Amino acid sequence: MTGRYYLRSFGCQMNEHDAERIRALLEAEGLERVDEPDDAHVLVYNTCTVRKSADDRLAGHLGTAARLKREDPTRVVLVTGCLPQAEQADFFARFPFVDGALGPQNLYRLPELLRAAVEPAGGSPAGFFEDGPRFSGSLASRRERPYQAWVQVMSGCTNFCSYCIVPYVRGPERSRDAAELQREVGELVADGVVEVTLLGQNVNAYGLDRRRGGEAAAPSFTQLLARLDSVDGLRRIRFMTSHPKDLTDDLVAAVAELPTVCEHVHLPAQAGSDRVLRAMGRGYTADEYLDRVRALRAAVPDVNITTDLMAGFPGETEDDFERTMDLVRAARFDAAFTFVYSPRRGTRAADLPGQVPPDVRRERVERLIELTQEQALASRQTWVGRHAEVLIEGASRDGALHRGRTRQNVTVNVAGPVEPGAIVAVEITAATSTTLRGTV
Ligand code: SAM
Ligand code: SF4
Repeated sequence: MTGRYYLRSFGCQMNEHDAERIRALLEAEGLERVDEPDDAHVLVYNTCTVRKSADDRLAGHLGTAARLKREDPTRVVLVTGCLPQAEQADFFARFPFVDGALGPQNLYRLPELLRAAVEPAGGSPAGFFEDGPRFSGSLASRRERPYQAWVQVMSGCTNFCSYCIVPYVRGPERSRDAAELQREVGELVADGVVEVTLLGQNVNAYGLDRRRGGEAAAPSFTQLLARLDSVDGLRRIRFMTSHPKDLTDDLVAAVAELPTVCEHVHLPAQAGSDRVLRAMGRGYTADEYLDRVRALRAAVPDVNITTDLMAGFPGETEDDFERTMDLVRAARFDAAFTFVYSPRRGTRAADLPGQVPPDVRRERVERLIELTQEQALASRQTWVGRHAEVLIEGASRDGALHRGRTRQNVTVNVAGPVEPGAIVAVEITAATSTTLRGTV
């Protein structure tokens, strides 16, 4: 098939990486990417449904798709990702102009979906939603940047936190073979990559599913890091997202000792009240969480610890929420994503009594934002006057400077003669809560 496609992706890094694979699959079919939906014959929306706000945002984009489809009924509208997986048949009832949809576990069937959508059997839309054993982690991907790559080391999640839709739409945890991953990273480095980010919903549980399945010698996440650290030419390894309950002392030591492993751990806390943490099914108490933070800070100089926090989980009282504020004060986060709890159909928390009124959720999240922004600014300011190792990624937003990232995952706007892909020492001269500024 020839023609032009438009791709819009929403949501987390895993989805962004899935979007790279969607690009590779569509381009292998002979399609060429365009930036405007009006110019495309095939429209693809890669969706997220982790919060209601994600659903709402997509509805606007699909409005455009519906209009374009009315103008030219031969256009093909495809929807991939977590939203159609969660809704399945209901999804086609809500969006009747969609020609085909598939869930994250069926990404490899995109070419098949495209063909089925062009020539529908019996005029009905095609949908692929099975919990398939085939793993899309090893699919080819079309990278956005030549120097950086995502590597999906595992898929799915088996934690079933009571608020979260992810285990229902992405299936159980499945780890990829370590030798295959090592080979893949070697190939990426040969292709010019200097930094890889290892992806998994609960990345530090890597390998546990294989061990439970009887492969007693399957490498753990720490062992995987050590193997990838030895890949010649690789300069930086990042990984996300880590679950506090699986942050072993071994892993803390690996972050401290392995030269390529960057000093940044994204460690979602979600809440600070033990009662709420238990109702969420997180598997740790506030003290246990803070113990992990202390272990990291003691072992890893200059480590950045970032987090996800949620306000307004069902039954959260003002006192519970104050425990979250206490945890944040004690942890001194370098950055945080803050969310208002959003009920998701099919999750346990959606049916809990004591849903917190929306204005109370909002007001609490505002307090979290204020506190975590103060902490982020204080963290960035400690870099002023020092040197940081920066990987140059491209031009800064306004085009006047270069933009890069420190090992701690902080964006730096850089002045001076440097090329994208270079790793340079930058003297930091100024800081805001989100970025640093400096000179090579
Ligand atoms: N696996 C990761 C973890 O356990 O931290 C994160 C996955 S989730 C895509 C990213 C974040 O979204 C979570 O850490 C949580 O803070 C937030 N989140 C998930 N479900 C939510 C919900 N129903 N309402 C609000 N925020 C939610
Ligand atoms: Fe969702 Fe919890 Fe799994 Fe993270 S660990 S993806 S929050 S169920």
